[in-house]
Amino acid sequence: MIGAGIAGLGCARHLAQKGKRVVLLEQNEPGSAASGVNAGTLAYQNKREPLLAFYREALEEWARLRHTLGEIGHGQPGGLHVASATERAELERVSLARAAIGEPVEWLEGRKLRTRAPWLGPEVDAATYCGRDGYANPQLACLALAAECRRAGVTVVSRARVRGAALRNRRHALDTSAGDFEAEAAVIAAGPWSAGVASLFGRELGVGSSLIVLSVTEPAPSFIDAVVTHVSGRLTLKRLANDSVLIGGGWPGKGRFEPYEPGIDAASLQHNLRYAAAIVPALAEMRLVRAWAGFESVTRDGLPILAALGGEPMLVACVPTAAGLTAGPLMGRLAGELVLGKALPEYARPFARGS
Ligand SMILES: Cc1cc2nc3c(=O)[nH]c(=O)nc-3n(C[C@H](O)[C@H](O)[C@H](O)COP(=O)(O)OP(=O)(O)OC[C@H]3O[C@@H](n4cnc5c(N)ncnc54)[C@H](O)[C@@H]3O)c2cc1C
Repeated sequence: MIGAGIAGLGCARHLAQKGKRVVLLEQNEPGSAASGVNAGTLAYQNKREPLLAFYREALEEWARLRHTLGEIGHGQPGGLHVASATERAELERVSLARAAIGEPVEWLEGRKLRTRAPWLGPEVDAATYCGRDGYANPQLACLALAAECRRAGVTVVSRARVRGAALRNRRHALDTSAGDFEAEAAVIAAGPWSAGVASLFGRELGVGSSLIVLSVTEPAPSFIDAVVTHVSGRLTLKRLANDSVLIGGGWPGKGRFEPYEPGIDAASLQHNLRYAAAIVPALAEMRLVRAWAGFESVTRDGLPILAALGGEPMLVACVPTAAGLTAGPLMGRLAGELVLGKALPEYARPFARGS
């Protein structure tokens, strides 16, 4: 297993629980990349229609997981998916599409909306509510999952950068910065590094990287009682357990992937914060404590990659894209199933790409 982000950890745990001997190779520490620095949103409402069945299952996977992981800062207050007057038509379309697949959301506008969420600003014209939306603390989740992997028998090797791959006696022979390893199957779960790792095996994966910023406010009297997502996709926010507010929405950072230097773009952050304060005006009075950035994987069509890449010995790619914290545990389990020779369920078949 190459990469101890949420996907690699999920896959390693699953295979170990199925009785396989698993070595998890991580160039840094488990959860040290996107999986540990993300916004922690586990939302359903803001997902594209063709992916709803997949994300519904991904949230079920999280529900099962959190019971075994213990305290991971998980909360499920439900979510408000909000729109301004000009975006209202899009919110209506999304809401009708949900109803058509038997997953109605609650439509809120006017007095009903103001009573439900008096902290939303006048910019918000309408919203839909869905009880599935929630969040988790990504760092706690990765640490707990790494501990769970070790309990299940996984050998987690930190500071082991995979830098070469060859075939030896029909097995993968891996050269890493922590020594040599051999395996009858390998899983590439290296996030935005996955294309580079795949090339070590002579394979191509269309994976790039995107740098995005997040920020968190000081703790303040609590008023936001739902996860907020915006129909434009440009805003997520939530109140954390310590009453601070985490603000994101995919606004770009400034930095380089290689060498790895994720940084903040002040102008972009400012746009993100203005956007947030237009939706929740009280945020304008709160001080920002910290802002940071992280790289997530991107593919040309935005879909994750989950595929057995063909040939012997087995090589599997497991690369979530945006919303990969939500998708990671399920994708990891399904990657494990591919290693065990099982087929992908219908809802994940569009993710089978790569060569
Ligand atoms: C700022 C930000 C906010 C986000 N917010 C959310 C959110 O709110 N909700 C959500 O669902 N998703 C969110 N995401 C997306 C989500 O974090 C990622 O999609 C997900 O964490 C990807 O997990 P992963 O395991 O595929 O990759 P990663 O977490 O990137 O892990 C890959 C691991 O592979 C290791 N690795 C790479 N190359 C090698 C090598 N050669 N040898 C050994 N190890 C190697 C890396 O060190 C890394 O630890 C966000 C992402 C970012 C950056």
